[in-house]
This record gives sequence, C-alpha cells and structure tokens, in this order.
Amino acid sequence: MLGLMQDRPLLISSLLTHAERYHPRSEVVSVTCEGETVRTDWAGIARRAKKAAQALRRLGVKPGDRVATLAWNTHRHLELYYAAAGIGAVLHTVNPRLFPEQIDYILNHGAAEVLLLDAPFLPLVDGLEDKLGKVKHRVVMTDANHMPKGRADLACYEALLASEDGTLDWPVFDEKQASGLCYTSGTTGNPKGVLYSHRSTVLHAFLCCQVDGLHLSRADSTLLAVPLFHVNAWGIPYASALCGAKLVLPGPKLDGQSLYDLSRAEKCSFSLGVPTVWIGLFKYLDEAGLKTSNLPFERVLMGGSAAPRALLERFHAAEIHAFQAWGMSETSPVATVATLLPHHKELPKAQQIDVLVRQGRAMFGVELRIVAEDGTELPHDGSASGELMVRGPWVTSGYYGGVGGQVVDKDGWFATGDVAKIDGEGFVTLTDRSKDVIKSGGEWISSIELENAALGHPAVEAAAVVGVTHDRWQERPLMLVVKKPGSSVAPAEVLAYLEDKVARWWLPDDVVFVESLPLTATGKLDKKVLREAWKDHLVKAGV
Ligand code: ADP
Repeated sequence: MLGLMQDRPLLISSLLTHAERYHPRSEVVSVTCEGETVRTDWAGIARRAKKAAQALRRLGVKPGDRVATLAWNTHRHLELYYAAAGIGAVLHTVNPRLFPEQIDYILNHGAAEVLLLDAPFLPLVDGLEDKLGKVKHRVVMTDANHMPKGRADLACYEALLASEDGTLDWPVFDEKQASGLCYTSGTTGNPKGVLYSHRSTVLHAFLCCQVDGLHLSRADSTLLAVPLFHVNAWGIPYASALCGAKLVLPGPKLDGQSLYDLSRAEKCSFSLGVPTVWIGLFKYLDEAGLKTSNLPFERVLMGGSAAPRALLERFHAAEIHAFQAWGMSETSPVATVATLLPHHKELPKAQQIDVLVRQGRAMFGVELRIVAEDGTELPHDGSASGELMVRGPWVTSGYYGGVGGQVVDKDGWFATGDVAKIDGEGFVTLTDRSKDVIKSGGEWISSIELENAALGHPAVEAAAVVGVTHDRWQERPLMLVVKKPGSSVAPAEVLAYLEDKVARWWLPDDVVFVESLPLTATGKLDKKVLREAWKDHLVKAGV
C-alpha cells in the first residue's frame, strides 16, 4: 500500500523561495572582482536570480542545457547557482586554476553554449578562443563601467539583468533532473564530470544543517573560503538558503590578510576551506603578530585533504572548534564528518584532537565499507585497511557522458580510490589515496600520517611524502619539507622528531628541503608531479 503523503519534488528553487519568504533580511555580503563590497540579502539574491534566469532563457538556455561559469565567490555567481538550476538547466562550474588544456577539455566536454566569466579570466578565455567548444555567448559578470573596452563579442551581466523585469515563476519538474556539473580536478587522470540532481543537492543541504553535520544554522555568518567552483562550495550555497545563514563571499581574495579582515568585519562565526587556506591565514597572523583568538570564528571546517593535527591544535587552543569532513566531487561532497561523541566530551583536549584528526563518521544516508584488493569486505576494527567504498542518494552512479564506464558495482558501491580504516564506532581514518600509498617491501606506509606528524615540528611549514624507487624495498618514503621563514633545522632533526610518532620502518629514507611544494587546482599537494620529479632520488643518492 502506498503512503498518502504529497509527492512534492525536492527542487533547488524551493530553497531560494523559502529563503526569500522566511529569511529575506539575512545578509549576503560579496567582494567583487573590482574590489567593491556589495551588501544584499536572500530577498535580493532571489530577486536577481529570477532576472538572471530570464536572461539565460533569452540567450536560448533550455532545460538540460549546461551553463558554464569561470568565476570567484561573488553574489553574481551565487545568483547563477539558483538561476540556472531553477529553470532546469545545469550549472557547470569550471575551476579556473586548472591548466588551460584541462579547462579546454572540460568546456568542450560539458558543451555549454553560454559561458559566464569574471573579467580577470578574460585573458584565459581569449587564449582558448578557437577551442571554446560550443560556447556562443560570453557574458562578463560585471557592470557596464567595468566592461572590457572595444569588445563587441562580450555581453555584460548587469546589462542583461537590467533588461529583465524579474517576473518569473520557477518551473516545477522532476527532482531527478540534473542541476549541476563539476569535474574532478584530475588529481587522478583526465577530469571526469559528476552530474548532480535537484534531489541529491537538496538532501545534501539538509545534511549540512544537521547539528552533527556541518551545524549550519540561521545563527551563522559564514565566510565561504572554499570556492564556488570546488564541488559546489561543499553545498553551503544551498544549505545557507535552507536555514537562512548569512553568507560572506570573499571574491578572488583568499589570502590570509583578506580573510582575516573580512571575517572580523562580518563577525563570521563559521568558515570552511581546504587546509592550505588556513595555513595561509596562520602565516599572516604570525607575520603580523596577531593572535589566533582575534579570529571571530566559533567553528572552522577543513576538507579536501587531511586536516593537519597542528592546525586543529592551534584553532582549539583558541577555543575555535576546528573539525574536518571527508568527501569528494563524487559524494556531493560531504560523506563523513568528524564530531565528538558524548563520551569524548570529558576527555583532555589532546585526546579530543586524536578523534578529530580522523575523517569522521558516515552521515545518515551514506553507507561505507572497506574492501581488500580481491574485493572481500574487511572488518571495522580500526586496524584492517582497504579501499573505501561508498553509496548513498548523493553519491554518483556514473560520470557525465558515460566516461569511465560502469563505476559502481552491482550493489551500487562506488570505489573511492581512497584507502582507509574504520573503527568499531564507525570513525574513518584515511591513510592515503590508493595512488599515493607507499608500498615498502609489500607493506603500506601512510603518507598522510607522516606528513601530519612532520607538520607538528615548529620549523616545518609544509611537508609532502611520496614513495620513490628503492633498490631493495621497491619503494621507500621520501619527505620534502618547506621550512618556516627564518627557521633552521637539519634533516636528522626532522627524523628524530618523527621517531616516537610513527613506526620505525616508516621513517623517510631522506628529508629534502625545498622552496615550495606544487599544489593542485583545489589546493592539495600534487603528488603526481612530486613523484615524477623525485622518483630516482634514492637510487641516485645511493641511500
Ligand atoms: P580531486 O579528486 O580531483 O582532487 P576532489 O575534491 O573530489 O577532487 O577530491 C576528493 C579527494 O580528496 C578524496 O577522495 C580524498 O582523497 C581527499 N580528501 C577529501 N577530504 C579529505 C579529508 N578530510 N582527509 C583526507 N583526504 C581528504
């Protein structure tokens, strides 16, 4: 017998309609690429999103069409999140930090006819000129005063909005329709498109507002230090409308000083970003002689790569609850969140951090398992480690255009490419990406754990560990370290520091100091580049 409840579709437009009605005065503050600070609110975003939707339709956008963006975190980009999805089109956010060839590939593959871009990305787009895929309309997301001169080929976003009246009823359609398209940043091969639906997006937004999820609420003023082009800014643009949180969009400025100033000016209670962003913020605080406790945050979420213990400790020492979530483009992205259980609350701070350095527990809706190389399921005992498999209503069932073929098994499990342990309470500890695992004489060494340990040394600013060729053990760990400015430390001191923190046979065979470490377009250590550059180091050095 069927239930008798209404079958209203979970549509992204309903989030905005709700925000417009119940949180109209909740602010949205945006720093534009021109350096202006625009203050609006959810009612303002809703009004302009309707005009943007009309403008997209006028440019010929139909349901199912992709609408591409190359843009920073601004109110205009936020409006487009709702405008495109609201009319049944698919917002295709492209990461401008990728190599031009990758952007080229992604734009061609997504095949949008309308591309909206921030003016600073015009040289990038001009460079792609004859390879812009199907793009017919290029719209610069600025006003008439800031439009590039003498470019009849470009449309002005504000001019397009100005010619619309904003009278539009959001159409109602199947919640399984596609709403957004993000390409994985290609850390592991060619970028592949993950195609979200209205349903998956709205369910994920509920998760962000759970107290044991990202704890987002009407009380928050959120500094969005994760870009709108990085897996939908981890769902916050949708969740903020759902709960009416104030949203602070920093535009192109993600450096330490800009984030510090903006977070204080807007009294931000919450912020989220990859660890690299927080490393940059602390560097600024140290250089400027400022205290961590000057930061206005109550909570800080890290994700995208493992939260270094030293960062968690520094935030917590200032009574800022730093925590991490694990996920990937393929999981919308949030799948696990590290929150303390009631029995952890009485523990000393250091032991609480022991819990928070793990990747957390599955949120309702997300199922996890770990499997051995032959596919057999491994126990959740905190010591068996294997590939992490995931399934759930906001987990991908396949890549856009069928790329990569069948990516879930017959029971719907998606293989993440991450290697993890799961303990009896369900806490996941990620040891590596399967491609980054160091296999020394058949045993596995966790590069994440080694890096995390090294980052606790006061002279270490950044550390990366990669497996490099070794005559006897096939592969051994090599540690590359960037020193903090003005500090001096020898390789032997770093090794001595690590000695009581990891198993003896895990100790890197060499520690090399470097000026900087290469990062991917989403701010993660680019281990592919490092492995290639250093693969013969131990063989050459005869270590
Ligand atoms: P890409 O894979 O292209 O870099 P994603 O942003 O989808 O793009 O990256 C997802 C990956 O990031 C995960 O598979 C995992 O390896 C890593 N990751 C995400 N969050 C964490 C975390 N909290 N701890 C460790 N690794 C993480």
